[in-house]
Amino acid sequence: MAVQTVIVYRICEPYESIYASFLGLGEYEEVGERVDLCPTCGNPPASQRTSPLRLEWDRPMLPLGDFVWDFGRQDLVVQKDAFLPLKELCPSICAGSVYAKKPESRRRSITSGESDSHLAWVKQVHLIEVWITTFVPVDEKRSSIRVVRSCKTCGRIRHTVEGVESITSRYDPQAANLKKIHDRRKSGAGVYVDAKQATKAGMFRVRAVPWWILCTDRVREGIEEKRLTNVAFLEVGEGT
Ligand SMILES: [Zn+2]
Repeated sequence: MAVQTVIVYRICEPYESIYASFLGLGEYEEVGERVDLCPTCGNPPASQRTSPLRLEWDRPMLPLGDFVWDFGRQDLVVQKDAFLPLKELCPSICAGSVYAKKPESRRRSITSGESDSHLAWVKQVHLIEVWITTFVPVDEKRSSIRVVRSCKTCGRIRHTVEGVESITSRYDPQAANLKKIHDRRKSGAGVYVDAKQATKAGMFRVRAVPWWILCTDRVREGIEEKRLTNVAFLEVGEGT
């Protein structure tokens, strides 16, 4: 039987999403002995996020998508009805509890003039954190992973992955606005993961870039078939 190629995608918030988002309030607890920031690179000591995930609505006047994103961070939250279809696609994921705070008055610019009923969904909505439990090994020789910084004091290594699909924006001085820049994945570039383990997990992470949430092409197709909203996919590698 021919070995089927597995394409690896990064699951993320769509560019210029039209849906509500949140700010993680990030409560972390230290793991191990109490230590100060690394004097050389400034990294904090090892820590893990506490549960439940605490969040505050950032754009509550917008409609709510099935996927709900925390700007710039690595946590993933979905609406209750979207969790079971995801769990069918990826048996390795677990459900975590979420505590959503109403918008603070410092965000008055968003909520001024809005009646409480307009924000009623904020109180009613039932959210679930998606815990990605699996880390899949990568073929470091084949992957285009580069060390950005390696600290001799605390041993932390920061990586970047070159040549993967990305959508960013850059200021265009002539048009006086932000210009969308879409780079496709370069052939042979990206993270090369263990195909069997990636397929089994469905959704997973890799140690070199732990803030990425990854999935296989099968999971991508499943999410698209179920028409779950507010999610985009960037091609970042392959399974071998
Ligand atoms: Zn350090």
